[in-house]
Amino acid sequence: MIVGILKEQHGDKRVSLLPEQAQALAAKKVQVMVESNAGAAAFASDDAYRAVHIPTVSRKELLQQSDVLLSIHPLSTTDLELIKPHAVVIGVFQPLFNHALMKEWAQRSLTTFSLDMIPRTTRAQSMDVLSSQANIAGYRSVLLAATLFPRYFPMFMTAAGSIAPAKVLILGAGVAGLQAIATARRLGAVVEVSDTRPAVKEEVMSLGAKFIEVDGAADASKAGGYAVEQTEEYKQKQQERLAASVAKSDIIITTAQIPGKKAPLLISEAMLDTMKPGSVIIDLAASTGGNVFAARNNETVQRNGVTIVGNSNLAADMPFDASKLYGKNVLNFLQLITGADAGLQLNFDDDIVKGSCITHGGNIVHERVEQLVG
Ligand code: NAD
Repeated sequence: MIVGILKEQHGDKRVSLLPEQAQALAAKKVQVMVESNAGAAAFASDDAYRAVHIPTVSRKELLQQSDVLLSIHPLSTTDLELIKPHAVVIGVFQPLFNHALMKEWAQRSLTTFSLDMIPRTTRAQSMDVLSSQANIAGYRSVLLAATLFPRYFPMFMTAAGSIAPAKVLILGAGVAGLQAIATARRLGAVVEVSDTRPAVKEEVMSLGAKFIEVDGAADASKAGGYAVEQTEEYKQKQQERLAASVAKSDIIITTAQIPGKKAPLLISEAMLDTMKPGSVIIDLAASTGGNVFAARNNETVQRNGVTIVGNSNLAADMPFDASKLYGKNVLNFLQLITGADAGLQLNFDDDIVKGSCITHGGNIVHERVEQLVG
């Protein structure tokens, strides 16, 4: 079995496996190759791969020869023309959102594993790319906001006068949100948080932040730890409760997502109008529609002196650590689908294999994606 590591496109600086991780895979008798320059932006040069006996090849050669392709983002149509029939592709493809693409890949007889679909179970934690990358995005979002914000984060009392601490509002206390809270607190900000899952209240408070209570959230107990869509009544109540916090916030970080759905709009145009000039918003949900009115994916917008950054890929701004953690997740996943003879061994009775496999044998095999494709 040949595993090929592709260079990410569209400026993503991460790479699926760093040299030492590729070496660890090769030590298990799997043949590994890497596209030239694939790791350069993550500080892993071609020389570093060659030093551990991983050959560097052109994109064309890699696509033509690999049985398993590692690419964080979806492959292009030009790429697909070159790959082996029945190749396996492993990455983060957001199949509940990109279901039309998945249909095309099924028709091409690809076996697709989308690591963002791995169940959020204890056993799967070591392969959970959503967590490893969201943790970085949450951390990075606060640092980015602090840089864009024209004032201090911590409180200061000096002979030249006093500085009040920055007020940070975080919407969504999942993995990214919790890391954002911890980072903002470390920098000395006063932090308020809203989430539809009451279960996170304790975690939020243990990080030294205030939880904004809104009664009547829809029951998410059967959604595997994820949020579910809320009633109009709840949304109205939440908007009313958030309005005062938005108006006084210096920084807002939004991370609210509902798997398979457009991200909920939490900050309306009217709420934006109440914010002070110089305030900063980072919308981490921008790629699925955004939580903030006026946020644009992969763009920074200025509106009445408020800076609004739409970026769902902030983990890529820390390419070395992000690649290191992503690569470890991939290695653990590969171990699960590789037999003792270093060939592929797919056990569809395994909930992790079943949950992350989207296309196989010419069909969409994932129930939820199949339902969306119809
Ligand atoms: P996510 O990215 O899907 O969503 C981010 C947060 O937004 C969630 O906390 C969600 O409740 C919240 N949200 C959704 N709609 C909202 C709204 N209208 N208003 C305010 N907040 C809203 O979440 P995630 O980081 O992927 O985490 C999802 C769950 O999975 C969490 O319970 C987390 O603890 C759990 N998890 C479990 C494991 C594991 O057991 N292996 C690993 C990671 C995460």
